[in-house]
Amino acid sequence: MYQDVIAAIATPPGEGGIAVVRLSGELALAVAKKCFRRRRGRFSPKPWRVYYGEVCALGGERIDECLLTYFRAPHSYTGEDVVEFGVHGGSFVAGRVLERLLECGAALAAPGEFTKRAFLNGRIDLAQAEAVIDVIRASSDLALRNANLHLQGSLRREILEIRQRLLGALALVEAHLDFPDLDAPLLTHSEVEAELALAAENLDSLVATARGGRVVREGFRVALIGRPNVGKSSLFNYLAGQERAIVTSIAGTTRDVLEVTINHEGLLLKLFDTAGLRAEGDFLERLGMERTEQTMEQADFVLLLIDASEELHAEDLSLLERTANFKRHIVLTKSDLPPRVVLPGENAWLGVSAHTGVGVHELRELIAAAARVTLGTQAQFVTNIRHTSALSKARLATETAMCAAKAGWELEMVVIDVRRALAFLGEITGDDVTHGLTDEIFAQFCIGK
Ligand code: GDP
Repeated sequence: MYQDVIAAIATPPGEGGIAVVRLSGELALAVAKKCFRRRRGRFSPKPWRVYYGEVCALGGERIDECLLTYFRAPHSYTGEDVVEFGVHGGSFVAGRVLERLLECGAALAAPGEFTKRAFLNGRIDLAQAEAVIDVIRASSDLALRNANLHLQGSLRREILEIRQRLLGALALVEAHLDFPDLDAPLLTHSEVEAELALAAENLDSLVATARGGRVVREGFRVALIGRPNVGKSSLFNYLAGQERAIVTSIAGTTRDVLEVTINHEGLLLKLFDTAGLRAEGDFLERLGMERTEQTMEQADFVLLLIDASEELHAEDLSLLERTANFKRHIVLTKSDLPPRVVLPGENAWLGVSAHTGVGVHELRELIAAAARVTLGTQAQFVTNIRHTSALSKARLATETAMCAAKAGWELEMVVIDVRRALAFLGEITGDDVTHGLTDEIFAQFCIGK
């Protein structure tokens, strides 16, 4: 069915040390042989060995010297025969090698087609295929570790366990339906219910990792809040600039909220500078407050900045009140200046200075500690929104089935929802997906992957 040979450049465009041009398909080696030449001897490669030679044009002229690696089916990335050419890393030369392979009979691969073949050939399930993108896009140690766990099949194993329980419930019902006289109906109902309750419990703990999963995927969102001139931007820049590993620094979609992503001890932290409070005039001020409010709502953690060198303003007091119900910490800025502020109540605070750097290390640690509390102690997280949604639907269907069993409904009715729950789980692993959905997923990949 998937016998045709596909080819693509697997390395990113631009100049680099090497470029890799990849072939996959039953006849991959035959295609490669048409344009690969060694200095002497016939070319009959052993699998998983590297061969030095050259890629030649139709007339025999050398296009580039290269290293050829042959991976024999089924022990290859796609599960088919794969041949990789390592050539000089230039867009033009790699493009010429690819053109030559197309001349020799290969077809240009679609985005993600190599990984799609790995999925279709049963090498990996859909969740593992998606983990490949997560590995490529990981921007922190935590995200990379989680993606690797998924790639190694950890999510698949948990889902299989839940499937087993649901199938167990189905088997109980089917046994009862096939041999109605052997079982007391009420006993079957409670047995089914117990089995479903276990599945629901496992689903709950997986769904519960999704909040942490969002932090793994997008970073821990920290909003810097404070009245104008307390030193938000200075601290924001200090936090951003002192970190070597800045990933991006972009102005937010709302014109006046700045965003920066930093990597701290393997965690991705996303800081928001709510410059909106600077706006003057009633209308703009309200607009600014709204945006600040929005940023706070979406944040995992709020840092309320108060100028330590001045007495408390009415705006500070109002912000203290507004942020009281958020996960927040008070930061006293400009701690290099003589202190004049007096905080009301028993609020814990941390003193920092964006001018001398005092307290900034402690502040990073404080943010990281708050992020770890949100992440909890789970070993792995569900990071993919598609997976979270399917798990929630499977949870709901299981719950419905459980209620029906409890209420003593006909078992034929109960299993309808059990089957629905199984189908939702199948959407994650790819056992129960439409072509449209798989196409959509693989279209997110780059060409050559
Ligand atoms: P924002 O309006 O809250 O973003 O505040 P800015 O970061 O623009 O700072 C307002 C003023 O406070 C500027 O003049 C800064 O130089 C000054 N400032 C900010 N941080 C510090 C600090 O740690 N120490 C001192 N002495 N001045 C600071």
